[in-house]
Amino acid sequence: MSNVILARMGEVTLKGLNRGKFEAQLKSNLKWRLRNFGKLSIFQSQSRIWIEAKDENNPNFADAEAAKDILHAVTQVFGIVSVSFAVKFEGDFDRVRAESVEYVRTFLNEHPDYKTFKVEARRGNKNYPLDSQEICAEVGGDIIEAFPQLSAKMKDPDFVLMVEIREFNYVYSGKIMAHRGLPVGSAGRGMLLLSGGIDSPVAGYMMASRGMPLDCVYFHSHPYTSEQAKEKVIELARIVSGFSGSIRLHIVNFTQIQLDMLKNSPQDMITITMRRVMLMIAEQLALQNGCQCLITGESLGQVASQTLEAINATNEVVKMPILRPLIGMDKQDTCDISRKIGAFETSILPYEDCCTIFVAKHPKTHPSAKDVEEAEKNLDIQGMVEMGLKDVETITI
Ligand code: ATP
Ligand code: MG
Repeated sequence: MSNVILARMGEVTLKGLNRGKFEAQLKSNLKWRLRNFGKLSIFQSQSRIWIEAKDENNPNFADAEAAKDILHAVTQVFGIVSVSFAVKFEGDFDRVRAESVEYVRTFLNEHPDYKTFKVEARRGNKNYPLDSQEICAEVGGDIIEAFPQLSAKMKDPDFVLMVEIREFNYVYSGKIMAHRGLPVGSAGRGMLLLSGGIDSPVAGYMMASRGMPLDCVYFHSHPYTSEQAKEKVIELARIVSGFSGSIRLHIVNFTQIQLDMLKNSPQDMITITMRRVMLMIAEQLALQNGCQCLITGESLGQVASQTLEAINATNEVVKMPILRPLIGMDKQDTCDISRKIGAFETSILPYEDCCTIFVAKHPKTHPSAKDVEEAEKNLDIQGMVEMGLKDVETITI
C-alpha cells in the first residue's frame, strides 16, 4: 500500500495530433515544479497523471496533512484541473473492501462531524466481476456496518468515497481545484511589463496560463522610486514564477530618462511619452531575449493612460503585438485573481511605482497625434531608448 497523487488534465486532452507534445511539456513542468519533493515517478494514462514517491519513506507522501505542500505545488502547474490524494494497493475485491473501511476510519479522525456519505466507483477493466453499482453497494454496506454513525446519502453527502479499480486499486475522497490552462512552454515567450501594482502580475499569470513562458521588465527610477519598490517587484515576479516557471527580470534604470522628460516636455503629456519610451525599450529587450510579444496590465478606461486614444498613442511605437489580457476586465475581478494567486497583499504595499513628481495632476486623456509630436519635439527619443538599454540589471528568479 502506498499514497499517490492523482492529477487530472483539462484542455490538454482536447488537443488532436499535438496532444503528445502538450502532455510531454506538462510532465516536464511537473517534474520541475516538484523537484524539491524527493525522487518521484510521474506517470500518465488517458486524462490523468499519477505522481508517486520512488522512496517509500518520502515524508511528503506520509499522509494528507504532510502532502499539503506538494498538492499545492501540483495545483500551480498550468494544465492540471484538479488533484486528489489517494491510497493505492493491489489485490482482489476483499482487499478493496477492507482498505475502503480503513480509509474511512482515518478520514473520520480528521472529520469527526461527518455523518453522511456516498461511494462512487470506476472500473478500468469492464470484465471485473462486479460492476460499478455493485462495488458501491458492497463497499457502502461495509462502511455503514463499521461506522454506525454514518448513513448513505446520494445528494450532497458530507463526503464521497471514490473507489477506482484499475491495474491497481485506489481509494480517496475529495479533490482540490487547480489553475487549469495549458502547460507553460507550449506557447511562445512574452515580455511582461511588470510594475508594482495589482494588474500586471495578474496579466502575467493569465498569459502564462495559456502556456506562455515569461520575461519581465521593470522601469525603476531610483531614488525617486524606493529600493523597497524594487524589492516589491522582485517579490511579485517570484509569485508569478510559482505558476510560470523561471523568470528573467530585467530592471531598467529609468531615472535620467524621466528627468529629461520632466525638463523638456509638457507636464500633461509625460505619462504618454513615458509609456511610449517604456514600450520601445521593452520591445528591444524582448527581441534580445527571444520574446514574441509584449504584455501589459492595461484595462480600458481604468486610468488616464488607458483610454483608447492613449492606448493608440503608445501602441504605435512598437511592431510587436502587445497583449492586454485585462483589457475588458472589471477591477474587482482582477483583484479576485490577484488574491487567488497570492499577489494581492504584496501588490497593495504602499511603495509607489512611479514617483508623484513624474505624474501630471491632469494628464491628457485623449491625446492626438499632434499632441504626441509636440510633446516629443524637444526629446531625443532614440537616445533615451539607447540609454535605457545600456543600464539594465537582469535577475533570474
Ligand atoms: P499596474 O497595477 O499593473 O501597475 P496600473 O493600473 O497602475 O497597472 P499604469 O500605471 O497605467 O496602470 O500601467 C499600465 C501598465 O503599464 C502596467 O500594468 C504595466 O504593465 C506597465 N507599467 C507601468 N509602470 C511600469 C513600470 N514602472 N515598469 C514596468 N511596467 C510598467
Ligand atoms: Mg501601476
